[in-house]
Amino acid sequence: MRIESRLAQIGSVKEPVTGAVSYPIYQATAFRHPKLGQSTGFDYARTKSPTRKVLEEAAAELESGDAGFACSSGMAALQTIFALFSQGDHLLVSLDLYGGTYRLIEQVMSRFGVTASYLDTNNIEALEANLRPGSTKAVLVETPTNPLMMITDLARVSEWAKSRGLLVIVDNTLLTPFFQRPLELGADIVIHSATKYLAGHNDVLAGLIVTKGKELSERMAFLHNSIGAVLGPQDSWLLMRGMKTLALRMERHQANASRIAEFLLEHPLVTDVYYPALPHHPGHEIQKRQSSGNTGIFSFKLKDVRLVEPVLRHVKLIAFAESLGGVESLMTYPAVQTHADIPEEIRRAVGVDDRLLRLSVGIEHCDDLIEDLGQALEQAARETEV
Ligand SMILES: *Cc1c(COP(=O)(O)O)cnc(C)c1O
Repeated sequence: MRIESRLAQIGSVKEPVTGAVSYPIYQATAFRHPKLGQSTGFDYARTKSPTRKVLEEAAAELESGDAGFACSSGMAALQTIFALFSQGDHLLVSLDLYGGTYRLIEQVMSRFGVTASYLDTNNIEALEANLRPGSTKAVLVETPTNPLMMITDLARVSEWAKSRGLLVIVDNTLLTPFFQRPLELGADIVIHSATKYLAGHNDVLAGLIVTKGKELSERMAFLHNSIGAVLGPQDSWLLMRGMKTLALRMERHQANASRIAEFLLEHPLVTDVYYPALPHHPGHEIQKRQSSGNTGIFSFKLKDVRLVEPVLRHVKLIAFAESLGGVESLMTYPAVQTHADIPEEIRRAVGVDDRLLRLSVGIEHCDDLIEDLGQALEQAARETEV
């Protein structure tokens, strides 16, 4: 069955007692045993919970994996994955990384003796040069990265990692399984901040892990249950509800983002637009090969730093807010918000400077969004005389 149909049918026709088409929310934390030595398959809700299980099975199936694990946030999912590693282990990590992931590695995992090198994960020579034989255990890739939209060739990096005995972990938040399925390209683990496109409505905080292979899946099940940062039944239900419309939303996000990126590219107050759908983007060809579409977020640089404040003040339809992937359009200023925890030298080296804005394009009418950006830029230019 095609992915659109599978998405729309998440949780449907699975409830045998009443035939409910929308899968029920099982709020129970304890499950009665029929008799000694028997179980309904559910014992205690941290280990396994019915509503969460339907979501987890759907996530595994959509990502072409063997097992899915729903967590209380994207960061909880990453922390659960990082618990695979031990003191002395080393990771190779995408340079232009989600700020929270960088903070978790540098300020939390480092205290447990797990360290990382940050580099362009599309550069095999750089990966090879940073490899610490015996210590390096995994490559953690974001593609596209956020905010600069750097692309990594997933099949190539996975092939290299396999030859070195490393796990490949891919943060697939920005493309979702609707557009990109890293496990089919050789990755071992996919992680999502399901708070973003999967839930899609700026109203649920959730994370997902999908693993490939029996041994890794069993190990992750053990960690998921042992750590306990699991997703509750209500949020599992809300997430499934959001995922049913993922295909429609992603198509609209992509169409809107492409048109707005082109509008900004032509705008005299904008110097750069970072969006892989644009033919001049350095990752354009790889992205086209390994994904069936483009995300709805991109970044752009204003001509002058003085324009930033008034643009953020004058956008009306677009909210000045963190996060991404929801039906409502949001704009953020990465240097002081999402990426504030990344040291300035690193931020500047990758290009996250103080003229960069990031736009998460929602599903509003594209012309309304273009008009909003146009008037905000115009007013900003007038006020600053740039
Ligand atoms: C938001 C985000 C995270 C963290 O997820 P939360 O749900 O906010 O905990 C991780 N990776 C990426 C790419 C993100 O955008």
